[in-house]
Amino acid sequence: MNQPGTAWGRLPGAPQRLVALTDRFQALPDEPSLLTFGNGRSYGDVGRNDGGTLLIGRGLDRFIGFDPATGRLECEAGVLLSEIIDLVLPSGWFPPVTPGTRFVTVGGAIANDVHGKNHHRAGSFGNHILEFELLRSDGQILRCSRDQNPDWFAATVGGLGLTGLIRRATLQLKRVPGPWIRGDSQRFANLKAFFAITAASDGDYEYTVAWLDCSATGANLGRGIFIRGNHAPATEAPPSGRVLRMPITPPISLVNSLSLRAFNTLYYHRPAAQVNQALWHYRPFFYPLDGILEWNRMYGPSGFYQYQCVLPTEGAIDILSEMLGRIGRSGLGSFLLVLKTFGAVPSLGMLSFPRPGATLALDFPNRGAETLALLNTLDDLTRAAGGAVYPAKDARMSAASFQSYFPAWRGFSRYVDPKFSSSFWRRVTGDVA
Ligand SMILES: Cc1cc2nc3c(=O)[nH]c(=O)nc-3n(C[C@H](O)[C@H](O)[C@H](O)COP(=O)(O)OP(=O)(O)OC[C@H]3O[C@@H](n4cnc5c(N)ncnc54)[C@H](O)[C@@H]3O)c2cc1C
Repeated sequence: MNQPGTAWGRLPGAPQRLVALTDRFQALPDEPSLLTFGNGRSYGDVGRNDGGTLLIGRGLDRFIGFDPATGRLECEAGVLLSEIIDLVLPSGWFPPVTPGTRFVTVGGAIANDVHGKNHHRAGSFGNHILEFELLRSDGQILRCSRDQNPDWFAATVGGLGLTGLIRRATLQLKRVPGPWIRGDSQRFANLKAFFAITAASDGDYEYTVAWLDCSATGANLGRGIFIRGNHAPATEAPPSGRVLRMPITPPISLVNSLSLRAFNTLYYHRPAAQVNQALWHYRPFFYPLDGILEWNRMYGPSGFYQYQCVLPTEGAIDILSEMLGRIGRSGLGSFLLVLKTFGAVPSLGMLSFPRPGATLALDFPNRGAETLALLNTLDDLTRAAGGAVYPAKDARMSAASFQSYFPAWRGFSRYVDPKFSSSFWRRVTGDVA
C-alpha cells in the first residue's frame, strides 16, 4: 500500500513528522503545524505538510453504527470506502458517490468533496453527509451538519483538511439491488458526438464516463469510448458469475513500453470498445485501476502529475480541442484521459471543485520543466474559460490560478485552524513562511 505520508503522484517533498491516530477521543499533539493524512490517494500536496506534522488518520477505522433499514452509516473518518462496501453491500446499500478508487477514507472524501461517475445525478460526496464531528487544535469539538454549525460544515466539505480533524461522520447510503452494473459502451468520433451522447444518456443512466484518445489528431481529435450504466438487479447477473471487464481498463504495465499513439489507436479500435449489453461487477466498473495495486510506481522515481480541470459547457468543445491538440503535440500525456460532465447539483463546500461543465483528467509523467510548462499553458486555457483545476490532483498550480478558480478562498481562510496547514495551502495562498 501507499506509504503513510506519501501522496499518490510520488513527487519528491521535504520530510514530515508522522503521528499515528489510534483513537478518536485522543487529543491532538501540541505541534506548530498539523495536517491529517487519509489514505494518500490525492496525487499532489493537499495531503502533504512538508516540514510539519502529519496525523495518520487511517487508525480511526471503527464503524459506530449502521441501520440496514435506512442506510444511515456512522463511522470514524479513517474508514475506507472499500470497508464500507464490504459491510453494507450484502444488505443492499452502496456509497452514494464514489471516486475512481475505493481506497479512500471518509475523511479524505469529505475534505476533497470527491465526485464520481454519477455527479450529474447525485452531486458530490458532501451532498450525502448527514453530519460529522470536527476537532479543532484548541480542543473544541464542533458537530456540523446543514443545520448545526452550517458554516463549519460548508468550510470543511471540500476544505482540504485545513479546518481541523474530522473524527467521525454519518452518511446516507444509496439503495442498490446488488453488485452488478448493466450498461453499454460505444465509440464516438469527436467531442461534438461526446456531448450528444452525454445529453442523451444523463436522463437514463446514473453513471457515465468517457475515455479519450489523447494522441488522436486532425479529423480524429476528440474521439473516444463512452461508457454508461445503472445498478442492475442481482437476477440479471450471468449465471456463471462471468463478467465483462470494463473496456477502459488500461494495461498499466505497458506504460513505458508502448508508444502512446500505438496504444491509443489499438485501444480505440478493439472490439470491446463497442458493447451493446454489458454486465459489469461493480469493481471493474468503478475501480478499474484498483485491480493493479501500486500502479502509480510505474511512472518511476520522478513521480507524475495529474491534471484535472472543469470547463463551463458553453465553449467547452473549443477549449477541449485546443487542450487536446497541445497535449497530443507535446507527446507528454499518458494513456488514460477521462472526460465526463458534471451536473447542476450544487456542491455544499466553500471550496468544492465540482461545478456544472465538462471535466477532463489525465496523467503526465514528471519530465521536469517541459511538463510544468505544458501544465501552465493548460492552466491559462482553464482560467480564460472560467474553469477550475482540482486541488486533489494538483501539485503545481500557482497562487494566482488557485485564487481565480476558488474566489471563496479568502472567506474560507477564516475557518482554517491556526495550527493546520498543508504544502498546497502555503503554495496557493502565497504563504511560504
Ligand atoms: C486511481 C484514483 C482515482 C481517483 N478518482 C477520483 C474521482 O473519480 N473523483 C474524485 O473526486 N477524486 C478521485 N481521486 C482522488 C481521491 O478520491 C481524493 O484525493 C481523496 O480525497 C483521497 O482520499 P484519501 O483518504 O486518500 O485522503 P488523502 O489523499 O490522504 O487526503 C486528502 C485530503 O483529505 C484530508 N483529510 C484526510 N483525512 C481527514 C480527516 N480525518 N479530517 C480532516 N481532513 C482529512 C487531508 O488533509 C487532505 O487534504 C482518485 C484518486 C486515485 C488514486
